[in-house]
Amino acid sequence: NIKPIQVKLVLLGEAAVGKSSLVLRFVNNDFQENKEPTIGAAFLTQKCRMEDKVLKFEIWDTAGQERFHSLAPMYYRNAQAAVVVYDVTKAASLDKAKSWVKELQRQASPNIVIALAGNKIDLVQPVDEGEEESANSGRQVPTEEAKAYANEFGLLFFETSAKKGVGVREVFTEIAKKIPLE
Ligand code: GDP
Ligand code: MG
Repeated sequence: NIKPIQVKLVLLGEAAVGKSSLVLRFVNNDFQENKEPTIGAAFLTQKCRMEDKVLKFEIWDTAGQERFHSLAPMYYRNAQAAVVVYDVTKAASLDKAKSWVKELQRQASPNIVIALAGNKIDLVQPVDEGEEESANSGRQVPTEEAKAYANEFGLLFFETSAKKGVGVREVFTEIAKKIPLE
């Protein structure tokens, strides 16, 4: 019976990229087609059992709207981890993600673990075998472009679908691996 290591984690990114949906998938393994926008921020916790440790994620799911930007430092201050989310069908959302990363690398704790997550890949990936990706159109951020950016800035990188439950667990378990044993 190990005492869980508490990990403060913040989600950042443009409004409607799927931050709350990623948390809902991770915490409740659920998805809502018409998720209401987050006001201010929401707080949730989720335990994560690893081979050598148990983590308790204390998750701050922030609102993406610009009018809440001034509140963000309250949520990323002292955070050990951040998930910065963009939408693979919206190039501008990657620009916004990059500006969050810049702000985190300047202002947050120097050893914060940052993961970049390109969400909504269900909109651009073939659903059935043999179906062409281009048939779904929609992708505005090539995987390689985002991956190269993530490498350059020392971020973990994932593509996810909160809707289909693709890659979501991995975001949190890869972060968990990087959190030191206390
Ligand atoms: P947030 O503002 O970043 O918290 O975004 P939400 O989680 O509220 O999601 C915004 C909208 O995108 C909602 O209508 C969600 O149902 C939808 N959404 C979120 N994640 C996905 C996904 O992986 N795939 C698809 N197709 N839609 C998603
Ligand atoms: Mg939200």
